[in-house]
Amino acid sequence: MKDSLKLKLESLYLSGEREVPMTRQTKSLEKKLVQNVVVKNNPPSQSVNQSTEALLAAIREKMGDCQRCRLAKTRTNIVFGVGNPEAELMFVGEAPGSEEDKQGEPFVGRAGKLLDKIIQAMGLERETVYIANVVKCRPPENRNPAIDEIQTCGPFLLQQVEIIQPKVIVALGTFAAQTLMQTESKIGMLRGRFHAWPNALAQATFETAFPIHSVKLMPTYHPAFLLRNPNMKAKVWEDMQKVMQELGLKKKEASVT
Ligand code: SF4
Repeated sequence: MKDSLKLKLESLYLSGEREVPMTRQTKSLEKKLVQNVVVKNNPPSQSVNQSTEALLAAIREKMGDCQRCRLAKTRTNIVFGVGNPEAELMFVGEAPGSEEDKQGEPFVGRAGKLLDKIIQAMGLERETVYIANVVKCRPPENRNPAIDEIQTCGPFLLQQVEIIQPKVIVALGTFAAQTLMQTESKIGMLRGRFHAWPNALAQATFETAFPIHSVKLMPTYHPAFLLRNPNMKAKVWEDMQKVMQELGLKKKEASVT
């Protein structure tokens, strides 16, 4: 590859360009370029984990004080995501709520505490999974994010997924599941089984050419819904048992209380 073309692609990537038509060869080149950009700022002795962490940090740095959509006007903090940069399991919610907006971290309110319990019941810790939302800023009055907000912010989530490369994504709640899958089916119809993700509709909606590896998506009820409907915890536990089996985690008899 000529240096000038390489420089051009690198410059396009750093300026946020994602619409360059991509062949298998250029996809592989783009990933190398992302790694090169990060490696420039990291000593060669760093582990793969640190490098993956640096890739995520590069995405966060690129977001900066993001003003790309109207949610910037009403948010307190951007809620980027937390957890293990090499997690096999990722939880994705719809958008930050009030407490998350204040603290800049996803799932930290009452629903977040319940999510922590679910994670622990699976034999994992919050630090061993990765938690993020479809959009990174709180919509006013906790309304659902609008389609243009999803289209603008969604590519950041896709980049997180591509860097982390989880085996399984658990979509928490109706909105996250419907948005990720681009379907209007109800969560009760979607949960309980894995779906291949991203499907073609999701790719088109997020309007990104960023390469996304295939993930198994398990939709389940949102922890906030469980707080109002504790009798549905058993259904979530059924879903999590399937996730655990997929990840080769030891089966547990205990459920989420
Ligand atoms: S929701 Fe996403 S795109 Fe919109 S301002 Fe926040 S970080 Fe930027």
